[in-house]
Amino acid sequence: MDLPFTYQRDRLLSTLCTFGIGGPARYYVEVREVAVMQSLLLFCKEHALPFFILGKGSNCLFDDQGFNGVVIHNKIDFLERPAPGLFRAGAGYSFSLLGVQSARDGWSGLEFASGIPASVGGAVFMNAGANGAEVGNAVVSVEFVDENGALHEYAREDLHFSYRTSDFQQMAGAIVAATFALTRSEAARKKQLEIIDYRVKTQPYGEKSAGCIFRNPSCASAGALIDQAGLKTLSCGNAEVSAMHANFIVNKGQATARDVLQLIEWIKKAVFEKKGVQLESEVRYIANISEDRVGKIDD
Ligand SMILES: Cc1cc2nc3c(=O)[nH]c(=O)nc-3n(C[C@H](O)[C@H](O)[C@H](O)COP(=O)(O)OP(=O)(O)OC[C@H]3O[C@@H](n4cnc5c(N)ncnc54)[C@H](O)[C@@H]3O)c2cc1C
Repeated sequence: MDLPFTYQRDRLLSTLCTFGIGGPARYYVEVREVAVMQSLLLFCKEHALPFFILGKGSNCLFDDQGFNGVVIHNKIDFLERPAPGLFRAGAGYSFSLLGVQSARDGWSGLEFASGIPASVGGAVFMNAGANGAEVGNAVVSVEFVDENGALHEYAREDLHFSYRTSDFQQMAGAIVAATFALTRSEAARKKQLEIIDYRVKTQPYGEKSAGCIFRNPSCASAGALIDQAGLKTLSCGNAEVSAMHANFIVNKGQATARDVLQLIEWIKKAVFEKKGVQLESEVRYIANISEDRVGKIDD
């Protein structure tokens, strides 16, 4: 079969995410062009192949058995500046780099991105945020390829963003680019440097994690609740509640998804019993898919 893309088999997902956890992807494809994303998503639909769009893997917990479908690694990586204060980035572009570059040039609105190890597409999908700011506040438009391979451009007024939530979480397809509007500020670079400084002092940057495991409930920060419940350093196998920041679970070596999922359940139970609060996961667990639901690329 003459395919419009190249793929690898059995690529280990543990090497493609910040947690360092996960079995093999049955098929793995790197996509660097929008046209290839269009053909690939259509191909997946026509061949009944489940797909998963991967950014920088900084909010993913992959199954120990891997993913029995196509992992599409979004590497559409460009940055354009169509007008002063406007930044159009490919979905595979580093979100942290965008935050640093824009602040360094005196533009405010994405300083908080500095240090978040995300892709632009993953940050839009998750409505990533910190320090009282979030992606949705800066977005002007988002370019998206749907599961039929059609390219759409959504304007900000057609999109809904709320705490770690975007419309894209309910849509099948891939974000391929986003445009942000930032405002002029002499203080942007200073603010960005303060944010990164605070991050490295308060978060376990040198360790393998997926960032905050739980969403903050309206009453308090999840980290404070977990800390107050006395759960720092609680462990299951090689997964441990960070001693530095209680809302991070760190992989101390060969942690498995099973270890992390068990630890999440223990934390939820203990915080509910001791603090009366039901925590919800922020990290996205990508469960494996049974064999009989999956088509094939090559045979
Ligand atoms: C040390 C550390 C610090 C962090 N700090 C923060 C923080 O301050 N604030 C915050 O909000 N988050 C934070 N995170 C979490 C994480 O960086 C964010 O959730 C980020 O938005 C995930 O982006 P990603 O590209 O890594 O997405 P991935 O982890 O690759 O994917 C996450 C989800 O987005 C989907 N997705 C990714 N790209 C696309 C695309 N192009 N099109 C469609 N769907 C897509 C995936 O399918 C998946 O469901 C942190 C993580 C770490 C490890």
